Amino acid sequence: MTDTIFSKIINKEIPADIVYEDEKCIAFNDISPQAPTHILVIPRKHISKLSESQETDKDLLGHLMLSATHITKKLNLNDYRLVINNGADAGQTVFHLHIHILAGRPFGWPPG
Ligand code: 5GP
Repeated sequence: MTDTIFSKIINKEIPADIVYEDEKCIAFNDISPQAPTHILVIPRKHISKLSESQETDKDLLGHLMLSATHITKKLNLNDYRLVINNGADAGQTVFHLHIHILAGRPFGWPPG
């Protein structure tokens, strides 16, 4: 299924609090933040989950990581956690690849 809520955000069919965007990705505040800063970085291209990405997505995956880093620098975040939930049992609820950027509070390990 390619038509997730995130496709609607990419296509500006529903609003989102966008913090960064470029030709390959878009980043916006999570609607249900789990930390004082909770941003989602998503590719414009639909990839349902990380394990569905291909060798040809190598540059795009690198771009997502570098974009996450760019955003954290822009927001002066030094300590933060990046999370990718891959599959329902790992906690994925929206099947459009996304990186969570979480910051602003201490995080425990292992994650729940
Ligand atoms: P997942 O559980 O798939 O790793 O993460 C999906 C995230 O998307 C959740 O943290 C959830 O709060 C967020 N989310 C779901 N629907 C929306 C929405 O319509 N707008 C925004 N900004 N975030 C959403």
